[in-house]
Amino acid sequence: MPTVYQKLTAIQHSKNFRDAVQIQTAELPEVPHPDEIVVKTLYAGVNAADLMMAAGQYLLPTPVPCDLGSEMVGQVVATGDNVGNLKSGDYVLINGIGCGYRDYYTINARRVIPIPQASPEIMSLSIGGLTASLGLSLTGEMSSNETVLITAAAGGTGQFAVQLAKLAGNKVIGTCSSDDKVELLRSLGVDRPINYKRENMREVLKSEFPRGVHLVFDGVGGEQFDIAVDHLARFGRLVNIGFISEYHAEPEQVTRPRIYYKLLAKNASIRTFNLNLYFSRPEAQEHLMRLVGLLNEGQLNPAIDPAIFQGVAGSIDAVEYLQRGENTGKVVVRF
Ligand code: NAP
Repeated sequence: MPTVYQKLTAIQHSKNFRDAVQIQTAELPEVPHPDEIVVKTLYAGVNAADLMMAAGQYLLPTPVPCDLGSEMVGQVVATGDNVGNLKSGDYVLINGIGCGYRDYYTINARRVIPIPQASPEIMSLSIGGLTASLGLSLTGEMSSNETVLITAAAGGTGQFAVQLAKLAGNKVIGTCSSDDKVELLRSLGVDRPINYKRENMREVLKSEFPRGVHLVFDGVGGEQFDIAVDHLARFGRLVNIGFISEYHAEPEQVTRPRIYYKLLAKNASIRTFNLNLYFSRPEAQEHLMRLVGLLNEGQLNPAIDPAIFQGVAGSIDAVEYLQRGENTGKVVVRF
């Protein structure tokens, strides 16, 4: 084992990710604390949340210095004396602020999830998969035979939302920004992909879905959120999980009548979902186990973006790639 390793740390808050971060060298303890394990990172997941953390605008406080990267799978390389359930060579899934963009991570053995094999696919379940699963069912009260609209549908989270909404027996509309993404969405079973750079999303919804959409799962915010609100059906639910269209700038100031003017007559609602508040709840474990089962049965096919990003330095490029909206599927950094 090396005595030092590298990690990515936000040292100042900035909306320019590269300006916010620094690659730092840290010491690796020779012998872990009795309850801890040392994990060598194999794959780290890239999330839009990285941008908010670097900007100091995440859903939880992230005072600097703040290590970045919130999900990874890795291999145990050392165990403390009290650790009985894991040994060197085992694979584990970890999430939590700061666990991802680093060569090694030392953590209490109780906070990791043992997995049989390491793969980007299983890692992609821990934030994107769980957010889609919990957000759609618990917050969105997803049922069957409804029309479900998903924004950023070809991204790390949206791709799970479309697959889960299809598995539940719904008609699914997904927004995205390129023909390649449209192809991915078709392959995932999306009934009506909308490339909003080629088609007018408002017009498509108005002409093809005149009765409105029953459930919206939105991580884009801004104009797509506004259009979705306008097209909610009676009893429609809109679950907002984020607003990446605004992450590069200050909040857009909008002046218009209060939202109840649009919602009350339709009995429609806007809800929000924050995965952090579920991690310690039993539902998170239940939903993760269901997702792993669906993955093993071949019913869930995580799309992993083909771009190769390598190591701690590569994680900066990977986050900027996601920020430019170039990704199709989950963006992964390999170590
Ligand atoms: P992602 O979907 O893999 O990547 C972001 C995607 O957003 C891009 O590929 C892009 O796809 C789309 N996008 C639309 N407008 C954009 C804009 N103006 N700038 C950049 N991208 C834009 O990312 P993710 O990590 O899965 O996150 C997606 C959303 O879910 C984010 O808002 C994130 O904060 C949220 N999220 C929330 C939670 C929670 O617990 N609340 C958990 C996970 C994720 P197109 O170009 O195809 O539109």
